[in-house]
Amino acid sequence: MPLLETEAIVLRTYRLGEGDKIASLLTRQTGRLRATAAGAQRPKSRYGGTLEPLSYIRLWLFERENRDLLRINSTELIESFFDMQGDYSIHLAGQYVAEAVEKLLPEREVNERAFRLVLAVLRALKRYRELNRPLVYFNYWLLRLGGFLPDLEHCGRCGRPLGEETAFGGTGSDSLLCRLCRTASTTFALPPTARAWGSALRHTRLDDWMASGGLSEGCKELRTFLEMLVEHHAERKLVTRELLREECS
Ligand SMILES: [Zn+2]
Repeated sequence: MPLLETEAIVLRTYRLGEGDKIASLLTRQTGRLRATAAGAQRPKSRYGGTLEPLSYIRLWLFERENRDLLRINSTELIESFFDMQGDYSIHLAGQYVAEAVEKLLPEREVNERAFRLVLAVLRALKRYRELNRPLVYFNYWLLRLGGFLPDLEHCGRCGRPLGEETAFGGTGSDSLLCRLCRTASTTFALPPTARAWGSALRHTRLDDWMASGGLSEGCKELRTFLEMLVEHHAERKLVTRELLREECS
């Protein structure tokens, strides 16, 4: 059994039998995967507190022949995001990031940029205690890196440039439509200011955006639209998105 070393972010863990856990991980070197941690439910397990959700860790894994699950040999904490739990909405935003990654990124597909994205977004949430801009940035890049981001400049049906018009999207739609092409299900309106942010994000670092002052106009609408797209491509509602809506409304 070869031993693999990789960095990872713990997306979540769940119990396995009496004493073990399964950890769902986004690794830098191997993409998203799941691995068992023997004895991790015990108070004095050798993993200590490293397998907490959102921990950034280094770990050593055994690949097992003909098995989906890898086995964690040992772990080492690099950076903890545990103190985000002190602020419920920020904590939920971190959980949303983990859930969206689990639902949208395929297993065992290396995506180093997605790994760096998640780390940058968690650091911004922890440092700035604001969730709108980090989540807009996260959704935008997760969709883009996954190949799901639609054209924000043109109507997805007739191809007409959207220019200064309000565009429409909604449940069951994976693109933006102009006012002539919109259907009964495209009830969500996205103003041009929000779409302009979409284009700007391609060239903006999250840290620079966070440092640049207050929340920008159209940002919340863009976040709602991008989250609808994440759910559309995940083919299900995200539990944490609903919780965030309740918490922040
Ligand atoms: Zn159109």
